[in-house]
Amino acid sequence: MEEIIIIGGGPLGLYASTLASLHNLKGILFEGSQSFGGQLDSLYPEKDIIDLPGIGRIRAKDYVRDLVNQTMSNPNHLDLHLSEEVKEINPIEGGYKVTTSKGDYETKFILITTGMGKFSPRKINLPNEDQFSNLLYSVNGLEKFHSKRVCVLGGGDSAVDIANMLSHVCSEVNIVHRRNDFRAQQNSVDELKNNRVRVFKPYLIKSLNGEGDTLKSITISHLEVERDETLNVDYVIVQYGNITSPSAFPLKSNKQGIEVSTTFETSLPNVYAIGNCVYYDGKVKNLTCGFGEAVIAITKIDQKLNPTKNIPIHF
Ligand SMILES: Cc1cc2nc3c(=O)[nH]c(=O)nc-3n(C[C@H](O)[C@H](O)[C@H](O)COP(=O)(O)OP(=O)(O)OC[C@H]3O[C@@H](n4cnc5c(N)ncnc54)[C@H](O)[C@@H]3O)c2cc1C
Repeated sequence: MEEIIIIGGGPLGLYASTLASLHNLKGILFEGSQSFGGQLDSLYPEKDIIDLPGIGRIRAKDYVRDLVNQTMSNPNHLDLHLSEEVKEINPIEGGYKVTTSKGDYETKFILITTGMGKFSPRKINLPNEDQFSNLLYSVNGLEKFHSKRVCVLGGGDSAVDIANMLSHVCSEVNIVHRRNDFRAQQNSVDELKNNRVRVFKPYLIKSLNGEGDTLKSITISHLEVERDETLNVDYVIVQYGNITSPSAFPLKSNKQGIEVSTTFETSLPNVYAIGNCVYYDGKVKNLTCGFGEAVIAITKIDQKLNPTKNIPIHF
């Protein structure tokens, strides 16, 4: 049985994981989406954060990288499981059974840091979309794209950044956007031309054409004149943003979040919750407020797990 399971790999889950390993607790952190960082990763990766104590200014995606590195640098760090959503928690003798999208786990304590809910990529919504293994929603490493023909769908910062990045390794990069103007930083949009990315706008994707699990081409339609184009592809990368699905655990909640005690215990004994998923009088839904909550919750969990231990306060 684990000592602690943390549900959610946003900034609060990552920081709580660091604290848990500093307290020598053994356990697992589950993140339901394909990447860590929660809102920082999904909603504002390029935004500068300027209200963290002593840091000055840091880009959100760089801060996520630092939080992941910090927790991984501890030799007895928690196991971090990406793409594993927690579906249910149920009381068992001495703790809880945690059911994820991949299996069942047992733990004495749970810390919920699910924030706004699980982020998942917004899909194209074409009937055969799930059939193709070369239709992707994120880019993990550049090697497989070497000398390939790629089409990026979308017009925001991440779509434009990915098109520019891939242009350095691919034989051909296309970007298809349904509006006349990109919603991305102008310098990145200007780079598309320098990087010889072929731009199709305003175009909408009409069909995905392939055999078995291999997508071979896509057909796109111009939105203002009657014109279809077919683009041969080795990979398509969809960048339509994210949607969130809130977690529904059997906990006492109000409209603004899960109700917690002053030590962040929920209505279920030994289930704690911190960060944007909780609400109490005076709660501020930002990072520093949540980090303080993590300190209190992890300290309390350690005290309960190890009543005779001299609990550390500084590290
Ligand atoms: C545009 C914008 C700008 C902001 N700027 C600032 C700022 O400058 N400074 C500041 O302090 N705060 C800022 N915030 C607020 C800050 O981002 C949040 O307070 C913070 O992200 C909360 O962290 P969290 O870990 O509680 O939740 P989230 O960031 O929402 O992360 C929750 C994580 O849990 C995962 N998850 C959810 N359900 C499950 C499940 N069932 N199983 C597994 N994983 C699950 C999600 O996929 C997600 O990764 C900003 C917010 C927004 C929207």
